[in-house]
Parts: sequence; C-alpha cells; structure tokens
Amino acid sequence: MQKDIAVIKYFFKPSGRVLYVVKGTHHDYITGRYFCTCYDYNFRKKPGGCVHMRALAEALESGNYEEFDLDDEEYSQIFKYELYDVLSEEPR
Ligand SMILES: [Zn+2]
Repeated sequence: MQKDIAVIKYFFKPSGRVLYVVKGTHHDYITGRYFCTCYDYNFRKKPGGCVHMRALAEALESGNYEEFDLDDEEYSQIFKYELYDVLSEEPR
C-alpha cells in the first residue's frame, strides 16, 4: 500500500452501518468495493478502479485500517464532512 494513504472504517451503532473513508494525499474519499467518490473513478474510469478502491481492498484483506465506533446520530455529520472535502476538490 502507498504510504500516504490511510483507510478508516467507521462503524455505526446500533445500525451496524459501515462507511469506509480513504485518506489520500490531499483529500478524503468515501470508498467502497465498487465505487469511489474521487475524480479518477468518476471521470477517468480507470480499469481496475482507482487507487482508493485498491487501497481499500488491500486494507480489508490485511486488516490494516483504523476503525472507529460511532453513534448512528453521527453518520450524517461524518458523511457530510467527507463529502464536502471531496466537493472542494478542484478538477484536474
Ligand atoms: Zn478513488
């Protein structure tokens, strides 16, 4: 895994909802096995997915991620925060 990429798993209780965030060099991205909120994934459609999806898959396999347990009430706050971060990115 690239050194400057960190994977965070937010686990929300009591619903059990999970949100994965991949922290890149400049921005955080909400990432899943089949999607990512980054520019590369959405506009460049790289074969094999973007670096965040690969980082997530690797992290899940190796267990190399940070996990935070949060309350369901915090879900929208986290989601908005991470989404704002993505939306503030300048197109490259
Ligand atoms: Zn991505």
